[in-house]
Amino acid sequence: MLAVESINVAYGDLQVLWDVSLSVRQGELVALIGANGAGKTTTLRAITGLLRPRSGRILFNGSNLTGLSPHRIVELGIAHVPEGRQLFPLMTVEEHLLLGSFLPRARARRAQNLERVFGIFPILRERLHQPAETLSGGEQQMLAIARALMSDPQVLLLDEPSLGLAPLVVKEVFRIIEQIHREGVTVLLVEQNVQQALAIADRAFVLENGRVVLEGSGSELLDHPEVKKAYLGL
Ligand code: ATP
Repeated sequence: MLAVESINVAYGDLQVLWDVSLSVRQGELVALIGANGAGKTTTLRAITGLLRPRSGRILFNGSNLTGLSPHRIVELGIAHVPEGRQLFPLMTVEEHLLLGSFLPRARARRAQNLERVFGIFPILRERLHQPAETLSGGEQQMLAIARALMSDPQVLLLDEPSLGLAPLVVKEVFRIIEQIHREGVTVLLVEQNVQQALAIADRAFVLENGRVVLEGSGSELLDHPEVKKAYLGL
């Protein structure tokens, strides 16, 4: 469904991704793990059209995404929940959700998607008229995910959804990601919470210094000596 093929990405003169290839099949939950600065966020930004690879290509259902604008890529069915949530503090929950369904394809399914989102996140219905800044950290992360779901995606790209949240809330966020995946959304999950990400992932890729160094099923990588040593502190 989504195939990243040998992309090289740089910020100015600083190259941060080197021949990165990865794939996400329809219906899979794939994790992308690695240390701070390994290039995980950069990989997601390349997929969503925020950065243009110097070389290589990105295919979605067989079409080349490389060079398309971010809104065109959303319209094709790829939604991005960015690191740090990127909410608008003074805008209400409802305004964020409407914004998420701004493009024509999603707008046509707005009512249906709102009900689906409230089914997954009942708290957002209660908070509907509150500004985002009044929500707890966990609720803000839920709103960021809900906003992305309002675009009616086939694939959801999640960048560090558990960052900065208390352990119980992290557990809840992972439960929700599994639920969204079970309901038919394909997921590419970037996480530093390696243990929990691998536990729910069908497959995973490990990025080190801008290169993919390992790939395998979630359970294979959980058992992999290098992963245990470098990321699980075992
Ligand atoms: P983190 O978990 O810290 O976000 P990451 O694996 O997502 O890590 P990236 O954010 O993709 O890593 O960063 C990869 C490299 O690119 C790092 O060396 C970082 O300093 C650099 N980098 C990221 N964004 C920029 C930018 N806008 N301009 C220049 N360099 C950048």
